Amino acid sequence: MTTTADPRRATPRTDAVLADPRLADAASRLGGALVKDAVRAVLERCRAGEVAPDAVVDTVLAALPRTATALRPVLNATGVVVHTNLGRAPLSPAAVDALTLAAGATDVELDLDTGQRGRRGRSAMAALAAAVPDAGGVHVTNNGAAALALVTCALAAGKAVVVARGEMVEIGDGFRIPDLMESVGARLHEVGTTNRVHPRDYADALDRLGDEAGFVLKVHPSNFQVTGFTSTVDVRELSALAAERGVPVVADVGSGLLAPHPRLPDEPDAATALRAGASLVTASGDKLLGGPQCGLLLGDAALVERVRRFPLARAMRVDKLTLAALEATLRGPVPPVPAALATDVAAVRARAVAVAEALAGVVPAEVVDSLAAVGGGGAPGVTLPSAAVALPEALARPLRLDAERPVVGRVERGRLLLDLLALAPEDDAALVDVVRRVAGAAGSAGVAGVAGAR
Ligand SMILES: *Cc1c(COP(=O)(O)O)cnc(C)c1O
Repeated sequence: MTTTADPRRATPRTDAVLADPRLADAASRLGGALVKDAVRAVLERCRAGEVAPDAVVDTVLAALPRTATALRPVLNATGVVVHTNLGRAPLSPAAVDALTLAAGATDVELDLDTGQRGRRGRSAMAALAAAVPDAGGVHVTNNGAAALALVTCALAAGKAVVVARGEMVEIGDGFRIPDLMESVGARLHEVGTTNRVHPRDYADALDRLGDEAGFVLKVHPSNFQVTGFTSTVDVRELSALAAERGVPVVADVGSGLLAPHPRLPDEPDAATALRAGASLVTASGDKLLGGPQCGLLLGDAALVERVRRFPLARAMRVDKLTLAALEATLRGPVPPVPAALATDVAAVRARAVAVAEALAGVVPAEVVDSLAAVGGGGAPGVTLPSAAVALPEALARPLRLDAERPVVGRVERGRLLLDLLALAPEDDAALVDVVRRVAGAAGSAGVAGVAGAR
């Protein structure tokens, strides 16, 4: 028996493999531990005779992730514009640049002129204030839930928050707004019934509670609709009756629209709520605004200042990366989410036709009409006309498992739909590449229904 015939004896030593300059280079980018683990795994396969000794380094290189995170960049072909499981809003290139810049040492909290401490994130705050001129004060927290929790703590700990029964919503993953508020020491005072609430209900509650009332909360039930025999009290009416009694109104608009959106007429926005008299508005930064995960707090200057100086605010403070990305989202070019919402269906269809043509001969691909959704627990009744490329359903899993660029589509009536509305147009070519590669491999492996008839 020759040495090369015994894989175990021919297997190179770990040190020798790690000394390869290409792996040394990878270790300087990804960290030694990650590369060493990959080398050990490949050497294991080499000893088992599955990898040739002279292919070890190449196999390790192919197995290494491109960055030191296991997160994978996914192509969102679901047709859900703000997809919670895909990290909500993808950032604009300008916001990504800002993130990279902010990752180093910056003047986030230093006044370069005086050399003294400056207000943290002042340029991001200025951008937010400029974007919502109706807000006397602005503040940013880690997310929308944090903004609401902080407001509750600062204004209603040990007091009552008046809220309509039909607005006691669960926001996702089992978290509920009423539980959140009670967990920071407020008592909820429910008014109305599941389907109906009237101005009188709020007024009676406030009269009964007197000084015990911390604020009135108006929650946008962003992820469901109640239809039929319903009535709610709008922010204007609520603000008038609460102001008469000296109680602030806090409007949780959720979606993060700063101004009305023509395609989403039922979605509340910050400017309208403030103009209607809300004292404070809370919202998310990574839904319809299209920015990083954060919570926006906008409104009455004195109240915002009170909330901002409340001790718990320090525990909900956003990091420099968020501040930078938020500022670039607000000041920079239109981010992907608002861009997708503004896309004309004819433009999406033209892209779908081009994608289907690029796949001709590789896999049966057909352009179909599709209905996309806003997602992120927003605009529940709204469908956005879109177009998709329909592929055999059997491709859904292999596309998701693509090592380089997983593609997530939507399975509907036995077909895999790749809806292009939520995908940036500049990613169409990448989508075609992945489908060609995966369909080619699946076709040769005989995955049912994939091998094209043409
Ligand atoms: C999304 C949402 C929240 C929670 O915001 P996060 O940023 O996810 O913490 C709260 N209220 C409403 C109405 C929402 O839509």
